[in-house]
Amino acid sequence: MNLLWKTFPKGGLHPRQMKSRLRGKALWNASIPALSIVPLLQHRGEPADCLVHPRDTVREGMLIGRARSDSSCHVHSPVPGIVKYIDEITLPWGEKTPAVFIELGGEFNRLGKAVHTYPWEGIPGDRLLTILSDKGVVGMYSGIPVHRKLTIPKGKFVRTLIINGIECEPYLCADHRIMVEKAAELVEGARIAATITCAPRRVIALTGDRPDALAALREKVREMKADIEVRALWSKYPLGDERQLIKAVTGEEIPSGGTALDAGAVVLNAATTLAMYEAVVLQKPLIERSITVAGRAIRDQANLKVRIGTPLADLVEECGGFTRMPEKIIVGGPLTGWGLSELSAPVTKTTAGVLFLSPKEIRNSRRTNCLNCGRCTRSCPMGLQPEAIYKWVEHSAYEEARGEGILDCTECGCCAYACPARIPLVKEIRAGKMILQSGGV
Ligand code: SF4
Ligand code: SF4
Repeated sequence: MNLLWKTFPKGGLHPRQMKSRLRGKALWNASIPALSIVPLLQHRGEPADCLVHPRDTVREGMLIGRARSDSSCHVHSPVPGIVKYIDEITLPWGEKTPAVFIELGGEFNRLGKAVHTYPWEGIPGDRLLTILSDKGVVGMYSGIPVHRKLTIPKGKFVRTLIINGIECEPYLCADHRIMVEKAAELVEGARIAATITCAPRRVIALTGDRPDALAALREKVREMKADIEVRALWSKYPLGDERQLIKAVTGEEIPSGGTALDAGAVVLNAATTLAMYEAVVLQKPLIERSITVAGRAIRDQANLKVRIGTPLADLVEECGGFTRMPEKIIVGGPLTGWGLSELSAPVTKTTAGVLFLSPKEIRNSRRTNCLNCGRCTRSCPMGLQPEAIYKWVEHSAYEEARGEGILDCTECGCCAYACPARIPLVKEIRAGKMILQSGGV
């Protein structure tokens, strides 16, 4: 087998993966929610402008939020129904946004209907970008509107397009299932991205411990005669981070303060690439996504295809309820996700998973003073000194924190995970970054 046992060089961890049984569980369609909660901000940038009013009838896939500017993104109705009301909600990461509450009713345009495919070869890249923008496609982890990410500024060139199938956070398996079950669509999505970026090298990267996904992708690449490499890398957290993945695949480094394009690369994850395929080939707006629901406090752990706007509480019911009250609820992965205290938030375009963790799955040891053990520094893939940055932020010495490289922190969570004193390093570093980025000092 043509394995490339490479990874990124500095730092990183091997957290317990908790995926062995979940990876084998096929995606299933979750029930359509009776009441969908559709936030008008599900992307990086400004919220979309609301186009509907209470008592309006909406169709499945109808535009209900129009991008306010180029730094915004369209939002579509995930279900047919009636707008009950529009209200402010709090997203899992604490940001507030208006959301459209839609009561299910009426006929579906797509669900249960024959699937039509639309030929795309020969469509120029700028027209493909318009389609992606019209269909509201965003990075399914980052929330960056894809048409923005794939608009290559003058003077920049993409040498390598990387489809990121690493999914290195514990528990999360939905991208793995996409690679196994939707390999042909993923390869086609990669070809669309290659057409837009004109990248001469195209790579689908995943870890070498997934023989089923590797076999499925290699078979489809061969069948479709696609000029795409399928590469197996050595699993280490956070290999799925754009910076580390580019380094592992191309050897190039993103300069401090730079972007992937400064290293001649564009990275799209598997779920995003599938959404691009569906937008272009099926003319389907982004109204559903694949997620993992896991943790020992939930009865039936699963990989689900869910409508955007599905309340998290509905997922609990879908998965058979709790076996015990969860000690911790996390949206996303355990290292970079967001803790929740209740379940009123909905699934958004960037929700990769929801974890309901039992006391045994979280480390409850008490916080102590720093032991000066250096584990945080050794685990940092960016070569930073997290403990020093933490101290500067704690003392509101933000310029000193800047000098220590706080803005290069990717918030991967390695330092906090490695810290035996349970110091909330990432929480504090993230807060310091926000203050510096908002010009608060
Ligand atoms: S969260 Fe930031 S400081 Fe901590 S290990 Fe990751 S990159 Fe380094
Ligand atoms: S890992 Fe924790 S205890 Fe060790 S040096 Fe870093 S902050 Fe201090």
